[in-house]
Amino acid sequence: MMTRPDAQPTASHFINGAYVEDAAGEVIECVYPATGEVVARVHAATPQIVERALAAAAAAQKDWAAMTGTERGRVLRRAAEIMRARNRELSELETLDTGKPLQETLVADATSAADALEWFGGLAGSLRGEHVQLGRDWAYTIREPLGVCVGIGAWNYPTQIAAWKGAPALACGNTMVFKPSETTPLCALKVAEILTEAGAPPGVYNVVQGMGAVGAALVGDARVAKVSLTGSVPTGRKVYAAAADARRHVTMELGGKSPLIVFDDADLDAAVGGAINGNFYSSGQVCSNGTRVFVAPDIKERFLDRLVERLSGVVMGDPLDEAVNFGPMVSEDQMKIVGGYIARGIEEGARLVTGGGRVNRPGYFLQPTVFADVTDGMTIAREEIFGPVMSVLDFETEDEVVARANATPFGLSAGVFTADLTRGHRVARAFEAGSCWINAYNLTPVEVPFGGSKLSGVGRENGLAAIEHFSQLKTVYVGMGGVDAPY
Ligand code: NAD
Repeated sequence: MMTRPDAQPTASHFINGAYVEDAAGEVIECVYPATGEVVARVHAATPQIVERALAAAAAAQKDWAAMTGTERGRVLRRAAEIMRARNRELSELETLDTGKPLQETLVADATSAADALEWFGGLAGSLRGEHVQLGRDWAYTIREPLGVCVGIGAWNYPTQIAAWKGAPALACGNTMVFKPSETTPLCALKVAEILTEAGAPPGVYNVVQGMGAVGAALVGDARVAKVSLTGSVPTGRKVYAAAADARRHVTMELGGKSPLIVFDDADLDAAVGGAINGNFYSSGQVCSNGTRVFVAPDIKERFLDRLVERLSGVVMGDPLDEAVNFGPMVSEDQMKIVGGYIARGIEEGARLVTGGGRVNRPGYFLQPTVFADVTDGMTIAREEIFGPVMSVLDFETEDEVVARANATPFGLSAGVFTADLTRGHRVARAFEAGSCWINAYNLTPVEVPFGGSKLSGVGRENGLAAIEHFSQLKTVYVGMGGVDAPY
């Protein structure tokens, strides 16, 4: 189904341990964003495909949960090993799916998915309840899986999202039906294929393609116990509402407009590096990006000069070329949306420091763009752009900047650069955000929880916290003597 590379998924869906096609489903074109070329076509799931996937996941769940955690973990860890061994071909596929530079995908996608499979695989054998002595009587808790889980992904990290949801779900004894974003349908299929090769029984991890309607059909099905979504806030509202209606467990990983504060005592190069990683990695298509960069007045112009100097190191070109470090937007639509924000920034009076337009080459490339003198009310300072657009804002005092950093309905992430140890921790404590960094930005290792507060999310991925969101506790009270009754 694809023109390149060799290691391709062979059909649209992966159900019950095998690739499945149903050509009756609407065609979804997978476009390589660096050229606009169609590299694959898949079909959206028909109702029959959705039914087959849910039935397979439901049928497989009890036996999967009945295996020991160590056995389940072994499958996940084997999958991690296969992923690492095939990192290059998986990274090439991720690059074709998203347009992100191979230089990035080689170190951030299949490798991050493998980390999740390895870490949750290692944990699976240690999941347990507790014993509670109650005088003569006692109680114990049993950690149980939830059942069939639905995962729904965004387009920016298709391999990683498929694994970050799948690994803890499977470790806990759940089965999963995963729907990737229609913009990046390919990579999740490889996650399913590799899990199966690693020994996951048929039905344990299934992938179906489709737009929002397919996601909605999955969320609305009575067999589904849990929904984990990565997507935008508006989609999150809909999915959360539908899930609440049916009393599903939910995890919502949504959008943000995160602050990054640079105090005048910060290591300037480290702060510039943090701002670059937090705005331009993956061409800015990262949910946790620190897109509102508050810089202390004494260092502002030096910060901007250094930033512009370092941005001269951007190398655009075919993302499959490993020398390229800056790729296109994922789609023409996304390029237009981001272009619209850049125009708005200029209209509303922000100072364009660098970038600001398209690049004269095929594909959906935009220049890395920096605005200074941005004020809180400007559109580019309020709305999630999801592209390579950094807003630099001025501030005077710590109290003021923290209040302004928090004055947003989002609460995904936040960062602070300072050499003052107590100030770093004080500011981190004051941030209204789920994932914060001091003298770093956008590092999200599997060992620690990741997720948002306020409109940016519900629940957490990664870390031990993810286990709480993919399992439930049953309490068993054990009476050891007679039963007292009033009559
Ligand atoms: P999106 O909200 O448009 O789509 C996300 C997914 O939801 C897609 O698979 C889509 O098909 C599906 N969907 C749409 N409507 C649905 C419905 N009614 N029911 C069920 N599923 C439905 O998001 P996107 O444009 O693919 O991704 C970008 C967004 O994702 C940004 O806002 C970004 O911040 C966010 N994001 C968040 C995180 C995080 O971990 N917090 C990570 C990556 C991306």
